[in-house]
Amino acid sequence: MTPRIWLSPPHMNGHEMKYIQEAFDTNWIAPIGPNIDAFENNLREYTGAKNVVALASGTAALHLALCVLGIQSGDLVLCQSLTFAASANPITYLNAIPVFIDSEPDTWNVCPDALENAIKHYQRIGKKPKAVICVHLYGMPCKILDIKSICEKYGLVLIEDAAEALGSEYEGQKLGTFGDLGIFSFNGNKIITTSGGGALVSSNQKYIEKARYLATQAREPVPHFEHKEIGYNYRMSNISAGIGRGQMEVLPERVLQRRRNFAVYKRHLGGVENIRFQEEPPAAFSNRWLTALLLSETSESVTPEKIRLALEARNIESRPLWKPMHLQPVFTKCEYWGGEVAENLFRRGLCLPSGSDLSESSIFEICEVISLTL
Ligand SMILES: *Cc1c(COP(=O)(O)O)cnc(C)c1O
Repeated sequence: MTPRIWLSPPHMNGHEMKYIQEAFDTNWIAPIGPNIDAFENNLREYTGAKNVVALASGTAALHLALCVLGIQSGDLVLCQSLTFAASANPITYLNAIPVFIDSEPDTWNVCPDALENAIKHYQRIGKKPKAVICVHLYGMPCKILDIKSICEKYGLVLIEDAAEALGSEYEGQKLGTFGDLGIFSFNGNKIITTSGGGALVSSNQKYIEKARYLATQAREPVPHFEHKEIGYNYRMSNISAGIGRGQMEVLPERVLQRRRNFAVYKRHLGGVENIRFQEEPPAAFSNRWLTALLLSETSESVTPEKIRLALEARNIESRPLWKPMHLQPVFTKCEYWGGEVAENLFRRGLCLPSGSDLSESSIFEICEVISLTL
């Protein structure tokens, strides 16, 4: 059997061990230490975010984002439906109420019209939502300026889930820095990894100070352990941050490698009548974390699942698009605004192997399997 081609495997640069060794040599084997400080600085410089806190996961970052914004039990939080469950789960940690919003077909991300309709409705019935969580799916910028101006118009705070979009830009500005708060993930499958980790960023220093405090068990700055609030243990380890430092050295290269994957897929499959791709609108720059194809037409014999099984038979991993949250058993009681765009994308899409170390010949092989399936 030829080695498995994974969807998005970790891709080390070789310097990660140097930073881990430093941690061992200096005995900083703890959730505090020089690698964490340096990694936070790297992220600050790269993204242009003014304030950064490195955390145990992207999910923890979202949870703390909601905490520092003061989201409480019963508050409505509007969230893009077509996303990974981690975008929405933290809303429920606080007993707040998720409301799901459809996507628009251009970027596959939250639809500004559906979002505004939802806000107007809740305002009319006297239940003004508190916050919006938008997502940049597979690295593609959502219509961020439209979303931001809707949030400003109605006085809602905006959280950008940029877990998949580190390195993506809109009008030359890095994603994650448009919202009141932004989050990144360094899980094993993301564009860079710390084996598991995340970060919360904001131009507002108070938010990040508060998040750092909550992530450290809400310890008051006194010698004995004094607590006025419930805290969490959400800090990143100094070992993980060492991996992150090595990965940050090659992040610009990783973005180019992922974008090259997309270009090669497009060259081989762009002419196939039944296949479409997620296209960059003007002013958008995607890190192309994952390349996903969309079948214009599906029939009994032509489905994303059929392609997935054909690839699997060749030991190649592919994956359906995220199943929309409003279709998830765990969220069936939640309200949903919009039409069937997200559901349609889910039924017609397939994420293709997109690792930054994928060879052109592997992409060629994948494209051949796909062509033969259609
Ligand atoms: C990966 C991911 C997260 C969660 O990040 P973790 O670091 O795995 O907790 C959140 N949102 C989206 C859209 C993701 O893809």
